[in-house]
Amino acid sequence: KTEEGKKNDLPPRIVLGPDGKPCKSCTAFSAWAKLPKKKATGATDPSSSSAPQDTVTPATLPPDCPPDVEALGRATWTFLHSMAATYPDSAPPEKQKEMSSFLRIFGNVYPCWVCAEDFRSWMAKDENKPVLTGREAMSRWMCRAHNEVNEKLGKPAFDCNKWEERWRTGRKG
Ligand code: FAD
Repeated sequence: KTEEGKKNDLPPRIVLGPDGKPCKSCTAFSAWAKLPKKKATGATDPSSSSAPQDTVTPATLPPDCPPDVEALGRATWTFLHSMAATYPDSAPPEKQKEMSSFLRIFGNVYPCWVCAEDFRSWMAKDENKPVLTGREAMSRWMCRAHNEVNEKLGKPAFDCNKWEERWRTGRKG
């Protein structure tokens, strides 16, 4: 089969990696679980997507499995928002430079390549350049970045006025 033919056999929402194979960190487990199972020899069994499976596929990502796009995303947003929430109140130029480098590198190394590509293009627009002058500015910028992804995925926007309560102080009272 041609590469194109193989691609068309894939269940929906499976994202391929640069190596042409399904990319686990770019795909939701719910979609991944529908992929035809590999036999012990390592060859894909073409009949297996409709044949009864000898193992039961769990409905959600088991805790000892490599992260899917969602688990990776949740963990990464926790890290990114926490980093913004602990950034200096007012950041000296050296700190701003450091964070700017980090975000540029992050956009190149994030394991979900489609996510990284979109994040890089979003950040490259003048109006979306990282705002790194201090904690509040960076946290609000990060909230906008996250809302951009929420919108792309059809999720509700987060109220950015709540950034501090969510990521720094916790709910009061
Ligand atoms: P998440 O979106 O992971 O959010 C975790 C928690 O953060 C929420 O429970 C909420 O309390 C809080 N939160 C939500 N929005 C905001 C906000 N705007 N500001 C502050 N806090 C907020 N997945 C894809 O399928 N395709 C993509 O292209 C894609 N791109 C991504 C790009 C990046 C840079 C990252 C880090 C992740 C990306 N993801 C992508 C993953 C996606 O954003 C989610 O993490 C994943 O779908 C799991 O979503 P969730 O609903 O569990 O909560």
